Amino acid sequence: MEFLAQIEKIKADFTQSRKMLLAIGDATRQSIVTVLMGTGYGGLRVGEITAKTHLSRPAVSHHLKILLDCGLVTVKKQGTKNFYSLHIGEEFETLQSLISQGGNGSGGIQKMHRVTKIPCGNANCYCVEENGSAILIDTSRTAYRERIYDACKDKNVRLIVLTHGHADHIQNAAALAQRLNAPIAMHKADKMLISDSLAQPVSAHTLLGKLVLALTMKNFERDEVEPFAPDVFLEDGDTLEEYGINAKIIGLPGHTKGSIGVLAGGKDFFVGDALFHLLYPAKSLLYGDKAEMERSAKKIGTHSSAVIHFGHGKPVPNRNW
Ligand SMILES: [Zn+2]
Ligand SMILES: [Zn+2]
Repeated sequence: MEFLAQIEKIKADFTQSRKMLLAIGDATRQSIVTVLMGTGYGGLRVGEITAKTHLSRPAVSHHLKILLDCGLVTVKKQGTKNFYSLHIGEEFETLQSLISQGGNGSGGIQKMHRVTKIPCGNANCYCVEENGSAILIDTSRTAYRERIYDACKDKNVRLIVLTHGHADHIQNAAALAQRLNAPIAMHKADKMLISDSLAQPVSAHTLLGKLVLALTMKNFERDEVEPFAPDVFLEDGDTLEEYGINAKIIGLPGHTKGSIGVLAGGKDFFVGDALFHLLYPAKSLLYGDKAEMERSAKKIGTHSSAVIHFGHGKPVPNRNW
């Protein structure tokens, strides 16, 4: 159900349940309801309820009238005797529906976001939408500009988040910011990379990493990035609520000094290049600071129920990295 439709339903249920909520908001009536819950189909007489609740007879009669009135209790006449029992009718179902919508159960309100992966050769950008707002995560290379624009143009992109300052993630930042009329956000420690992806030294481990490093270096040397000034600086612990997205920024330094991740709704984790998924999912093959990169990888692993979305490669369930 759409979020607004859910709210409308809750409002209607709440209005309908008002009488019942008021009725069971009283401790004395709760004790009567509890007694009635423990009896069978036949129901109880006022005298029996009086005995079980230790209330006075007039008090029981008074409260039973309120419970009858809101529809939670029903009465059956047998001759001159009245038998009271709980009535699980429509009103009760409305109340139940209200409770389950307000809770965190499967029928509860969930501020759901939607993830669209925009594949750009060997790199990925992501659009995360929630209740009519959207953010774009990374902007890939020049060759994919139109594809990213097409994927975003009908969405209300309110922020472009750059996971870090390497050219393969920021080459379209300036152009898309202008065309989508959205501010650009990144960590300030990577600002220096906008004009030169090699401004922070990069090392590599594993044979695959060294190969990637050689190719990356070659690309970085010829990659040109249209200059831009970030509008927003993000750091660990920031949230994107003001842009309409329930997401948190997680600092993930190591690959670069200013690498950040975006954790949306606690379950979709966009980690940029803090982890790699080239031939296999792994810790970042390239890094400026290996110890920091490893600390960040461990940190990612602590969000155990999240799906990991990489700057390069297919998503995988989170694990210990
Ligand atoms: Zn990178
Ligand atoms: Zn990259």
